[in-house]
Amino acid sequence: MRYREPTLRSIGGRLALDFLNSVSPKTELSWDQLIAFLESARIVTPERGGELLTLSHSDPQAADSLLRKAQRLAAALRLAFDAVLHRQKVLREWIEPVNEILRITEGHDELVFSNNDWEIQFEASESGLEWLLAAVARSAAEIIAEGPRARVRLCANPRCGLLFYDTSRTRRRRWCSMTVCGNRHKVAAFARRHARH
Ligand SMILES: [Zn+2]
Repeated sequence: MRYREPTLRSIGGRLALDFLNSVSPKTELSWDQLIAFLESARIVTPERGGELLTLSHSDPQAADSLLRKAQRLAAALRLAFDAVLHRQKVLREWIEPVNEILRITEGHDELVFSNNDWEIQFEASESGLEWLLAAVARSAAEIIAEGPRARVRLCANPRCGLLFYDTSRTRRRRWCSMTVCGNRHKVAAFARRHARH
């Protein structure tokens, strides 16, 4: 089974951050949300996503097992990235759900010619559903292994809550998106300045 490295420009800039951004911190990840994320990250095609959606009826055990792993991964990553964000220690218990996925998704990378470019694709050696989470787990592992150098940031809009990886040259990016949260901030500051006059 093969899937492509996500090439879409995303808010998080790293797959593991996009995964967390797709999950509300207050509610548990649902099957539909998980499939929607896999499609938006291009881990599965829309056709495969449609097939997976029906799995919760056709093979509820398989769907439930994958969903639980995804939920455990999301909960652990939220704690781990929060620690990275605050330069605190990442605990062993948060790492286990990441390793659990890495361990069962054996495979190898391959260069594949696609859209006129060579890109890295992961070739999974087994066909279980866990491979769907492999790229997220690997992306998370890379960030955690960067330790305090990882440029994980939380959007400066306190009501936003989105995480992103700061690849800006100045390393001072503050907003998940300049057009959304950045502009909202500018408009609010402008309104405040004018209210004073
Ligand atoms: Zn934001």
